[in-house]
Amino acid sequence: MMRALIYKDQELTALFGSRIRALEVLFVLEDIKPVCRFELQPQQLMDVEPFFQSANLTYLASSIQPLMTPEQDTPDAQQQSQLSELTLVYISKNRSLAQEARIAETRFDHRRFGTLLGYPQCCIQFFCEHLTEAEELHHDHTLITARQSTTFNPLLNISLQFFDWRIISHYPCHFNCPASIDQAQRMLKAIAKYNKDLVTEIEQHMRSLVLYTNETGVHVFEGAKKKGNNFYYKSVLLTSTNPVHDLLMKGDTIKKISINHV
Ligand SMILES: [Zn+2]
Repeated sequence: MMRALIYKDQELTALFGSRIRALEVLFVLEDIKPVCRFELQPQQLMDVEPFFQSANLTYLASSIQPLMTPEQDTPDAQQQSQLSELTLVYISKNRSLAQEARIAETRFDHRRFGTLLGYPQCCIQFFCEHLTEAEELHHDHTLITARQSTTFNPLLNISLQFFDWRIISHYPCHFNCPASIDQAQRMLKAIAKYNKDLVTEIEQHMRSLVLYTNETGVHVFEGAKKKGNNFYYKSVLLTSTNPVHDLLMKGDTIKKISINHV
């Protein structure tokens, strides 16, 4: 399997039901993140329990609702109806750190919580400073990050997480944040120990052309080629049916007029 992520004879993507969750666990195992946190259905949690034991990971479960959105990203987590059935799971090699993360999140202590999740301090600072503004943007900092950015490093692309592709799990303070790029590179290095092909595929996905609109969210263009200010594409990935997607599917070219105008 080209995309397999095998750790101790277990294929983690199948085990955790998403590549993003599998990678989060791998980053804890590889000491890149002190703690990771994501949602699981109660049955999934029972299924992964033996793996946690065999990998010497400790976890804490909680039924509280998540406060920071970057980790709340898997397609099934988008279904509000399912949210109530989900359990938040904090995973770490160190039980007291998992405990601390759970307390920090409950207390809205974004600084401590972000630190425990391994986020760079500059990005935590950015997240806290723009919290109120992001509330108006469906708790999504992406457009604010874009505004702070003049250049874009594809490794920091966080817009494909709805399609189960990403490297970093936080909103970078800008799309060329050195601390975030350093972390993304360490993450890719860790993945390469298990599957080099997967690294290549992740890097390819990160280079996708993405259109972000406030009303309809993320539109990802597949097979996009740039010619001057025109981008030619084969198809557009979809999270939910919307008029912008319908319009984009009718064409095969999008033209950049200026930085925020297509
Ligand atoms: Zn940063």
